[in-house]
Amino acid sequence: MSISRRKFIGWMSAAGLGATFGKSAHAAANKQFKGYPDSVGVLFDNVLCIGCRNCEAGCNKVNELPPPSQPFDDLSVLAKKRRTSSKAYTVVNRYENTHSKKSPIFRKIQCNHCLEPACASACFVRAFTKTKEGAVVYDASVCVGCRYCMIACPFEIPAYEYDEPLTPRIRKCTMCHPRVIEGKLPGCVEACPTESLTFGKRKDLINIARERIKKFPDRYVDHIYGEHEMGGTNWLYLSGAPYKEIGMREDLGTVPAPELTAGVLGAVPIVVGLWPVLLTGVYAMTKRKEQIAQKEKEQAVFHALQKADAAAQLKLSEALTKAQKEKEVAIQKEVKKALAEVQKVQKEEGS
Ligand code: SF4
Ligand code: SF4
Repeated sequence: MSISRRKFIGWMSAAGLGATFGKSAHAAANKQFKGYPDSVGVLFDNVLCIGCRNCEAGCNKVNELPPPSQPFDDLSVLAKKRRTSSKAYTVVNRYENTHSKKSPIFRKIQCNHCLEPACASACFVRAFTKTKEGAVVYDASVCVGCRYCMIACPFEIPAYEYDEPLTPRIRKCTMCHPRVIEGKLPGCVEACPTESLTFGKRKDLINIARERIKKFPDRYVDHIYGEHEMGGTNWLYLSGAPYKEIGMREDLGTVPAPELTAGVLGAVPIVVGLWPVLLTGVYAMTKRKEQIAQKEKEQAVFHALQKADAAAQLKLSEALTKAQKEKEVAIQKEVKKALAEVQKVQKEEGS
């Protein structure tokens, strides 16, 4: 598939990419960190989005996710507000367009790939990495399943595989990081039939967004969402309607999550050092609670079975006693009948 120039801004070949970025680094809970200058991202322009769900299908395909409960060409799902899940890393929702009465307005949801991710700063085993390319990726092999990342994310993105009994993982959009480092587009961008999704260097995307707002001030809200929210994100948004009207938080401020955490914890220095220990303790307590609950459940089942067994034994013995009594009564009746027959015969013979 040829890559549309407008979908793929100022990017480079796979070979050049590795050399430019080199090794990825763990997200730093560091006040100086302002994001990687050459990192890439995606600009979502909802004025151009037609709500076709092709991006959802593209994501599903490249990430080999299970088929959705309602097929991708069934647009009735847009009527309800959906969240991302462990089986859908991106979803599109429909909103009334109060800004312009012409048509509804759509919002695509996925991980925003924060410059300084809250998920990474909350994770004490460092399962999340902010790559130099821009994506925030996750390593299931070190994850202990505490789900602090889910609580920390201001965009409610990480999802847990609750239906995986043995090795549940956190799931979220990776901006198709493996594809990006091969020089390919993220699955959703490739699948979008309009120019709603543009992939490229974050700084170029900001310029494109500014130009669009300048050229069409009546079409766009004068705000590039993600330029500064929570310290900035690699996924950026242009909107034809106020962001709060399409379910996006406008109360997040511009301070990155790790800085907020440092501010709170910095007031009590000892807590900074103890933080991983405390989190580990909370995790251990949670785990212990789960084990106790499991044991209690097993004991309850055992007692219930014992009770059922005793009740069954009692019923059986009562039934046997009853049967025995009935049998004795029947025998007595038969004996009585036989004696009566004998007496009758004797009487007839004697007469
Ligand atoms: S949107 Fe949430 S999950 Fe994605 S990088 Fe930011 S904090 Fe992490
Ligand atoms: S594929 Fe493009 S036009 Fe279709 S819903 Fe997704 S972002 Fe909108």
